[in-house]
Amino acid sequence: MPSTAKKDYYEALGVARAADTDEIRKAYRKLARKYHPDLNPGDKAAEERFKTVQEAYDILSDDNKRKVYDQYGFYSDNIPPNGGPPPGGGTAGGPNFEGFDFAEFLRQQQQYGGASGGAGFEETDRSGGSFRDIFGQFFGGGKARQAVQPERGADLEYGLNVDFWQSIRGTQVKLNISRQETCDTCHGTGSSGKGVAVCPECDGSGTVTQMASAMKFNLTCNRCGGTGRLKNACPTCRGEGRLSRSDAVEVRIPQGVASGSRLRVAGKGNAGVAGGPPGDLYITVRVEEHPFFKREGDNINIQVPLTVSEAGLGAKIEVPTIDGRALLKIPQGTQNGQKFRLREKGVFSGKKNSRGDEIVEVFLQAPDVRDERTRELLRELAQVHTVEVRSDIWSKVQVTV
Ligand SMILES: [Zn+2]
Ligand SMILES: [Zn+2]
Repeated sequence: MPSTAKKDYYEALGVARAADTDEIRKAYRKLARKYHPDLNPGDKAAEERFKTVQEAYDILSDDNKRKVYDQYGFYSDNIPPNGGPPPGGGTAGGPNFEGFDFAEFLRQQQQYGGASGGAGFEETDRSGGSFRDIFGQFFGGGKARQAVQPERGADLEYGLNVDFWQSIRGTQVKLNISRQETCDTCHGTGSSGKGVAVCPECDGSGTVTQMASAMKFNLTCNRCGGTGRLKNACPTCRGEGRLSRSDAVEVRIPQGVASGSRLRVAGKGNAGVAGGPPGDLYITVRVEEHPFFKREGDNINIQVPLTVSEAGLGAKIEVPTIDGRALLKIPQGTQNGQKFRLREKGVFSGKKNSRGDEIVEVFLQAPDVRDERTRELLRELAQVHTVEVRSDIWSKVQVTV
């Protein structure tokens, strides 16, 4: 990245900050003559100096550019002199600021008193947003991380699938979860008194990379001050006070748990920071469907077929429940789709300390006639049982020919 930071153009021209345009022009002419390459053939230092003088004059002789430079300590084409939306366009010569939100940047700078400074950025006690942090570090600012405050550990979320019967009867499951635990070596303090640990923030490199839109910064790591090492840090947890571990957690799934229920296991989230309490573990239960029993709240719905004679004559039939077989009395004249309730044959609810019901819906299964005897009987039935089953429909429908 080209370095445009902390170039003092006033110093380059040898003029005061308050110098007017005339003084600046005079200083430029004098220095340009002195360092001009034609007058100093082969002198690299003079050539560099000449470029700097030209650059300084280019900025300071232009009122708008000078304003930007005075305010921010550098000049870039897409910074307007007095805030407002940045004009589009290139960034000739400057760092690549394309895609960067300068409006936001300006707001923050104004908010944090950047306008009062000369070259470079002022340190303030307030911690700004990420852009300011980045620029603060980019231009040599930034500040060391504060002492770690006690903080509650994060909650953890896990999903758990259980089958239908596990949900009905309840179960005990052992979950292997990955959680941050307090470091045994330093008991969570993160310091060992004598050890030196590799900085976990930068992995020992001393620099961290931050992205801001299209810009990528390599910044000095704040945690270790660029050394890549943490003094007096616990070598086991590298000063974090916590370690990521796989932990077996026994979880009791209560009887009658419903799909989507969220169970809380207190204290089994991540360990806290600097003596803070641990977070909790939350388990969201998903109950797999049963091919026959359909759960609805605490009730169990089932569908059971009836023969025509059972429906017509009435019967006592066996139906399945979650407890096993149960007897259900079918009254004579039962119709298709009729529902019967078996009390307290549903799911146990710990909350209500009671059981739901089983709802049995019957459907009529017409006889699949394959023999002559059955056919005869049905013909006979048709002759004897002469109820006009569709009369109700005709009474409601007016058909005109
Ligand atoms: Zn570091
Ligand atoms: Zn430790």
